Amino acid sequence: MKAVTFQAPGEVRLDDKPEPEVDGPQQAVVRVEATGVCGSDLHIYHGRVKIEPGFTIGHEFVGTVVSAGDGVTTVSEGDRVLGCFCTACGTCFFCRHGWFHKCDSGGVFGHGATMGSIQGAQAEYVLVPTANLTLRRVPEGMHDDVALFAGDVMGTGYHAVTEGGMRPGDTVAVFGLGPVGLCAVQAARAAGAARVIAVDSVEDRLAVAASFGADAVHLEVGDPRGAIKAATDGRGVDLAIDAVGHPAALDSAIRAARKQGAVVAIGVYAEHADVHMGLAFIKSLTVKAGLANVIRHVDPVLELLASGVLDPRPLVTHHMGLGDAAEAYATYDRREALKIVMTP
Ligand code: ZN
Ligand code: ZN
Repeated sequence: MKAVTFQAPGEVRLDDKPEPEVDGPQQAVVRVEATGVCGSDLHIYHGRVKIEPGFTIGHEFVGTVVSAGDGVTTVSEGDRVLGCFCTACGTCFFCRHGWFHKCDSGGVFGHGATMGSIQGAQAEYVLVPTANLTLRRVPEGMHDDVALFAGDVMGTGYHAVTEGGMRPGDTVAVFGLGPVGLCAVQAARAAGAARVIAVDSVEDRLAVAASFGADAVHLEVGDPRGAIKAATDGRGVDLAIDAVGHPAALDSAIRAARKQGAVVAIGVYAEHADVHMGLAFIKSLTVKAGLANVIRHVDPVLELLASGVLDPRPLVTHHMGLGDAAEAYATYDRREALKIVMTP
């Protein structure tokens, strides 16, 4: 089968690989019909997140179950399904607490040996190690482009809002308007945020945020601090979200939050970050970081997508073939795309 592999920083290519086969009771093989290129794939592409050359990348997928082990009960052969970006056993200490993203034996698709050695989904077929928790049936009539968001990007935006303890009537600031940041804007509005102040330096992304009901503020040309002060009587926002994964964004989020407020970092970090911890201490902030618990969120997120309350379709800017992967990554790297959906 054809599969997109990481070769070296800045280089991905289409390789021939053997088709995966089920060889355990919890496993399933999915024929991939749509797969996304994501910001976290870009961290691999840049060499910031290190994986082995030749490893298949990608972790967002929609497709059809072609085979499943005896222990797979939640989906069946022939079902149209979507995948969560990570897997979980369901029985370890962390899974028993509902922290599926921290499963002792779980991993993330397409992220190499350090994250579970699970080959990626930018391929014609993907092997799912624990299908019961990782896969969901796609609701009747839902487009691939919409379903693709449930297992990662929208689930992550939703996670930022729920982990941040946002309440109806709150004011939220979102720093970074890539697909995750824009999904956080939508999720915050859907959860009853009175105002969302959305900050980025790319005009197209600001325009999408504004169409989702945010007050869009240009990072340099605008005055994010002034806008936040004006919107909150000078208090600061109830919840500030770093959807970039850069210390400057995290520092801005800490500065934007009100006393006793919350900061959630959903951008990816792999190294030290220099931020003003004194401010976080003085303001008694709650700071949360890490990958989203998408397995926990996927059912409500699917309901919200099915009803149209959440609608990520404006984020899909490109459809390309798997064979165009090199061009897709280069395009995404130039920030010329929001979500690229590739079809095998
Ligand atoms: Zn992703
Ligand atoms: Zn587990």
